[in-house]
Amino acid sequence: MKEIFLLKLGEIVLKGANKRQFEARLRQNVRRRMKRFGNFDVYIMQSTVYVEPKDEEADVDGAWEACHSIFGVVSLCRSRPCEKNMGAIFEAVENYLGEDLDCAKSFKVESKRSDKAFPLTSIQISQEIGGRLADAHPSVRVDVRNPDYTVFVEVRDFAAYVHGPAEPGAGGLPTGVGGRAMVLLSGGIDSPVAAYMIAKRGVEIEAVHFFSYPYTSQLAKDKVVELARLVTRYSGRMTVNIVSFTEIQETIRDNCPEEYFTLIMRRFMMEISQKLALRDGCGALITGENLGQVASQTMEAMAVTGAAVDLPVFMPLVGMDKEEIVTIARKIGTMETSILPYEDCCTVFTPKHPKTKPTLGQVLHAEQALDRQTLIEHALSSVEKIKVSYHDDESVL
Ligand code: ATP
Ligand code: MG
Repeated sequence: MKEIFLLKLGEIVLKGANKRQFEARLRQNVRRRMKRFGNFDVYIMQSTVYVEPKDEEADVDGAWEACHSIFGVVSLCRSRPCEKNMGAIFEAVENYLGEDLDCAKSFKVESKRSDKAFPLTSIQISQEIGGRLADAHPSVRVDVRNPDYTVFVEVRDFAAYVHGPAEPGAGGLPTGVGGRAMVLLSGGIDSPVAAYMIAKRGVEIEAVHFFSYPYTSQLAKDKVVELARLVTRYSGRMTVNIVSFTEIQETIRDNCPEEYFTLIMRRFMMEISQKLALRDGCGALITGENLGQVASQTMEAMAVTGAAVDLPVFMPLVGMDKEEIVTIARKIGTMETSILPYEDCCTVFTPKHPKTKPTLGQVLHAEQALDRQTLIEHALSSVEKIKVSYHDDESVL
């Protein structure tokens, strides 16, 4: 029997004049995500996206699972559509939700009527369906205050829909309504979470990874590509720019005071990332920096690193505790890959006593020994671009 998913829109509903544009984008995103699961009709009415399988071949469970990672959806439910009369509604509830109801101790019915021509009010619908259900399931009592299970009835324009409790959606705003940004993706716990958080605000994501072969291994690179792939479950496809960083790191090591190694290196990362970002239409950079976590993440160090670029630098984790970050990493499924033990290039030439309170003047002075622009151009001349999307399951690792 036919099922339709109802995806409820979150903040989009508040967006006034932009609402149409936001809705169109969400519909397009849902359509794209549903493609691999068969033929689905996707349409929006009354702040709800309807996802309707068109034939028996559709992979309904796969599609349902995928709907949970679409930004812009605040909650979702699987529903059974039926004709708009009380007999048909009761029958649909009974057939579709009867078994779930029998597993509960108590229940209530909650109704919504957006079709105001329907002859009963919401309260009358709930009372009548509730009464009939109580008769049909004498072991489950009615409890309108604190029920174990709630039956929902929605009488909408084209049909009535019955469903059980909704599940939480991915929240946020539809991918693409907030522009595009480039994340500096290391192999750590933080940067994939940072990418996810900005993606959640409707931003398309591209990534850059700095790679120091032979100091860091092919496995370290594969790990980062895999992390990017895991983030695309939410963000949609992205391109990972792999930048060879060995020459820059060796040149810094050979020419600059050790206490500034990390800072100078990070300023190179920022400047190269900005150049790639501008080429790829990105309006901001994203990092996983977190105040006070390591020497290069003091306020003074962040000022020095940030001064290397003009684009806004988003640091969504800046005020979070590690535990909070780890909770999100587990939720989005990046944690296990992040803790695989491969070296990141940041740990290759780590100074014993890094400057925690640098000034920009000191760092600019330390950089004078370098031909920065030539090094940057050289690094940019051999960027490898790897396209990733969640369902390229043959990917690495
Ligand atoms: P993460 O867990 O994301 O690795 P971290 O706590 O280890 O972060 P750092 O190593 O100081 O912190 O790096 C700070 C930020 O710089 C990272 O979150 C990431 O955005 C960026 N970054 C660090 N190393 C790389 C790299 N090899 N390639 C790209 N970006 C990097
Ligand atoms: Mg790191």
